[in-house]
Amino acid sequence: MTNTTFPALGLAEPLLRALETRKFTIPTPIQADTIPALIAGKDVLGIAQTGSGKTAAFTLPILQHLAAQSFRAAPFVARALILAPTRELALQIDETVRALSINLRLRTVVIIGGASRFKQVEAMRRGADIVIGTPGRVCDLMQTRELQLGAVSHFVLDEADRMLDLGFIKDIRRIVAALPSKRQSCLFSATMPHEVASLANSLLREPIRVEIARAEETTPKIDQFVHHLSQSGKQSLLLTMLGDPVLSRVIVFTRTKHGANKVAGVLENAGIQVNAIHGNKSQPQREKALRDFRTGRARVLVATDIAARGIDVTGISHVINFDLPAEPESYVHRIGRTARAGAAGVAISFCDPSERVILRQIERQMNQTIAVVGDAPPPMTSQPKRPAAPGQAQRRRYNDRSRGMRSAA
Ligand code: AMP
Repeated sequence: MTNTTFPALGLAEPLLRALETRKFTIPTPIQADTIPALIAGKDVLGIAQTGSGKTAAFTLPILQHLAAQSFRAAPFVARALILAPTRELALQIDETVRALSINLRLRTVVIIGGASRFKQVEAMRRGADIVIGTPGRVCDLMQTRELQLGAVSHFVLDEADRMLDLGFIKDIRRIVAALPSKRQSCLFSATMPHEVASLANSLLREPIRVEIARAEETTPKIDQFVHHLSQSGKQSLLLTMLGDPVLSRVIVFTRTKHGANKVAGVLENAGIQVNAIHGNKSQPQREKALRDFRTGRARVLVATDIAARGIDVTGISHVINFDLPAEPESYVHRIGRTARAGAAGVAISFCDPSERVILRQIERQMNQTIAVVGDAPPPMTSQPKRPAAPGQAQRRRYNDRSRGMRSAA
């Protein structure tokens, strides 16, 4: 959080009232840096993750600009376009946009796959001040001219790195080609590999670069632990852990959809309220799963990486990596689901012998060692060197934070 205030950032009164209603009192660092730049009409390259407050950072200036212009969008025409990599993220952005525009008369339309195309076209018939969409469906409606981007004055590409991971580059290029060259653009990405940097170069004009510290520096309140065990021991350890009510709102990550279903089935049989969320679930199923989790009707959400991307649920007490992710960067995204907006959180990973290599990569990338609970792992190589046993202090912290898991540890 910062020393500045929202009025000091130059936001108009209807937005300040909406922020008050939403109980956002102090701008986050990304908001403090991004909002004045965007209000001044600059392009922005933001290096920030979900959890940083980036959605409000790009939404507020767009709302301010759109509200200041008195014309309305013609049928099938969009005035602003926000692209997100996943449906869930698009819906979350929509939620934020609606909350922050509550005192303005602006029309928002969500254009995502897995939902009724017909309804989206009907909504576009009245024009849209803001379209929030995923690349595939946006391209689809563009082709039939049921979404026209020639008047877009504001463009946001959110989670650009994930967009590229998901293979959306062609769709993005097609969409950008349909935008007017005179526009304000911003691109947000958690990481800045070469491909994202070159995409940013082609989209942005003399951008202001806004960077907040990476997750490992901004999430000091996430306590991280790892259990070394066999693959076959994972289910029973998970059940033992969930015997403790301290694990009140838990995301369990698996590497595959099949794995997610399997774990959810085991938990359900044990009487635990659980839903699974992954790419094979329909949009209504995903929305229900998220709603149940958000409202506390389901205590556990079992998810794959892509499905969980951008999930914004506050109060997640524990993230459990039932399987370690294939990519070290996903680990950072996963554990970032807990400890949102300043709350504390715990991330626990299960690591079987085949996952030790990935664990090492994760530790190397984060430049930190994850505390081992339970048995120290056997050595990885034939070298007789044993990894350091967990420090007494680390063990105590884990047990303090997660009473009742002692038996598991
Ligand atoms: P985001 O990074 O946009 O996904 O936002 C992460 C979370 O922080 C969301 O739950 C937001 O509602 C919340 N948030 C964003 N800005 C603020 C703020 N200035 N004060 C408190 N919470 C915020």
